[in-house]
This record gives sequence, structure tokens and C-alpha cells, in this order.
Amino acid sequence: MVDVTVFGAGIFGLSVAWSCARKGASVRVIDPNGVGAGASGGLVGALAPHVPENWNPTKQLQFESLRMAEDMWAEVAHISGQDPGYARLGRLQPILDQGALELARAREETAKALWQGRFTWQVIEIDRFAPYAPSPTGYLIHDSLSARLHPRQATQALAAALTALGVEITADGPSQGAEVWATGADGLAELSEALGAEIGNGVKGQAALLAHDARDLPQLFVDGLHIIPHGDGTTAIGSTSEREYSDPSATDGQLDALIAKARRLCPPLADTPVIERWAGLRPRARSRAPMLGPHPTRPGAFIANGGFKIGFGMAPKIGALMADLILEGTDAIPPEFRPEASLPKTTSNDALRR
Ligand SMILES: Cc1cc2nc3c(=O)[nH]c(=O)nc-3n(C[C@H](O)[C@H](O)[C@H](O)COP(=O)(O)OP(=O)(O)OC[C@H]3O[C@@H](n4cnc5c(N)ncnc54)[C@H](O)[C@@H]3O)c2cc1C
Repeated sequence: MVDVTVFGAGIFGLSVAWSCARKGASVRVIDPNGVGAGASGGLVGALAPHVPENWNPTKQLQFESLRMAEDMWAEVAHISGQDPGYARLGRLQPILDQGALELARAREETAKALWQGRFTWQVIEIDRFAPYAPSPTGYLIHDSLSARLHPRQATQALAAALTALGVEITADGPSQGAEVWATGADGLAELSEALGAEIGNGVKGQAALLAHDARDLPQLFVDGLHIIPHGDGTTAIGSTSEREYSDPSATDGQLDALIAKARRLCPPLADTPVIERWAGLRPRARSRAPMLGPHPTRPGAFIANGGFKIGFGMAPKIGALMADLILEGTDAIPPEFRPEASLPKTTSNDALRR
């Protein structure tokens, strides 16, 4: 008999399983497609904060999650003997004009309070980063909170650590104990169908992996593009954001354009070969925030979905919140993250019970 059955072996399902198992629960994870078959099997892996201003519960929760990530991934590496590719090396953002420079300097001050003196947001001279991160003003923002991981490696390492803790990960099996549905874009489609309204959907993203070794450098965020040097000597770039698509896993000319842009903005990438092209569906709830708590249509079950663009960044905290709710009945989920935030106001009680 297990205490918790988790449906979905992406980063949300595995993180919920991790927090439950660490609290002593016996856990089964069921995914017919295997570990990391969805969005979590990707390449990018930016664990980067919101801008340090206009603070709100979502930003606070993400901040706590980014802080928790260091310990969580160190434990995963230790228990699994596998490298999730985690490193907190910070992030660089070129400052494009005088207005942005003034704003960045103001945020140096707000970051001190909001990041509790633990991490910095600083304007720095381009200096040693010049070839990697060109900046027309000669200045860059450097924050020390951002980290990277390798999504595919991290998901596999987490699954291996869970197995070492006695968690069963299987393609099929009986549901026992509390049920948690962490089934990504498929789960949001299923929910939308059950309720007859769009509760969320999959937003396609394409990304690429290049053979460029910049493993000791901070990640780069420039003109909406993430450039993430991984610890294995590759560099990921991402991502497109597509609401309309016919094949969720196909890559196309939009990725070619992204690669060309990355090569223009980060000159060391100019002649580096592309090792892999990849596409996946980000699970986006209608509210755009994670969807956590009692499942809207499965009585007695729970849902953990809606990671959208920052699922890996939010996963440590989401796992902890869900484990507290499932195992102890302690509900510390902020209203913005509850399923109700994505349900249409007109959803009837009948529809919710269907
Ligand atoms: C191109 C791209 C770039 C990204 N970059 C970043 C980034 O830099 N940083 C970041 O934090 N996030 C990033 N994300 C977002 C992140 O990948 C997602 O938020 C996260 O992977 C979602 O995890 P999940 O477990 O909810 O969903 P998924 O990983 O999609 O997992 C859902 C799982 O449910 C399974 N499933 C479906 N139906 C069932 C069923 N009936 N029973 C059992 N299992 C089922 C599927 O097989 C799948 O394995 C990116 C996403 C994309 C696409």
C-alpha cells in the first residue's frame, strides 16, 4: 500500500514525489510515457528571478523556491550519484540605453531589501565579459541569484534519487492513497474538456543546444533570449513562444531565426555547431500562475500543474507546498496559485463534480 500516487513524471510530479518521500511517505509515480517525456525533457534550464520591484506573493514564492533549489539539487546529486547540472553562477543582462541604466541602478537598491541581503543585483562594467555579452552602453546587470540546471539531466537524476529512496516509478499501476495529477499540458486539455471551458493549454517552445563550452560563465538574458552554458560543455538557447502550432514536437524556421539571433547577440556562438533541436509544450494555466491544490474535477485528488515558463524554478517550493497539503493538511498555497484562479467564474458545481 502506498500513501501517495502521483500521475506524471515531469518536474512537477517528481518534485511532489520528492517532498512527500523526504517526509517519510511511501510514493508511486505513474507515467505511461516515461520520465521527462513532456516539457521537462528539454534543454534550457534558466532558474532566474523576477525583477526585484513591485513585490507580491508570486515573486516571494519564486524567490523562496530559487533559494531552496541549491540544497534540493545537491541532495538529488548526492543520493542519485547523477549530475543534475545545477550551478548558481548568476546572470548577465546587457544594458541597452541610458534609461535602462538608470532603472538598473534603482533596482540595485530594491534588490538589497527584497532579496534580504543574500543576493545582489548590480550594474557592472562590461570588462571581462565583453566578447560574451556585448553591451552598447558598456554596462551589464549581474545578479547573483540566478542559477542553471540541465532539465533533462535534472529530471533523470531526480527520478534516480527517488528510486533510491524507494519510490516506485512505473508506466502503469494501481492508484493508492492520495492521488496527485501532475500531467502537464495533457492535464490542462483534459480539464478544459471536462469543464467545457479553456482552463489552460500548451504553449509551444523551441530550443537548441550548441557545442560551445562556457561552463564557468553566468547565463545571459538578452532581447528575450536565454543563453545557458551547461556544465557538460554545451550551451542551450531558448525559446520561441507559440500559441498556434500543428506539431507540438517539430522544430522549424522559427528555431533557425532564434539560433541566428543568438549568434548575433553572443559572438562566441557564431561558428559553433548545433547539436540538438528540441520542442515541447509548456503547461500554461489560464491565470498564467501554477495551479495547485484540490483537483477541480477529481473528488479527493490534488493537482499540480501550470509551471508554464518557470516550472523548474518553482518546483522545489511547489513540491514542499503540495507535500504539506497532502500529508498534513497544511494549506499554505497563495490564492493566486489555486485552481480557482484559472476556473471561469461561471463554472457550476455540477461541472466541478463531473
Ligand atoms: C522550450 C522550453 C523552454 C523552457 N525553459 C525553461 C527554463 O529555462 N526554466 C524553467 O524553469 N522552465 C522552463 N520551461 C518550462 C518547464 O519546462 C515546464 O514548466 C515544466 O517542465 C512543466 O513540468 P510538468 O511536470 O508540469 O509537465 P511535463 O514535463 O510536461 O510533464 C507532464 C507529464 O505527464 C505525463 N502524463 C500525461 N498524461 C498522463 C496520464 N494520464 N497519466 C500519467 N502521466 C501522464 C506526460 O507523459 C508527462 O511526462 C521551458 C519549457 C519549454 C517548452
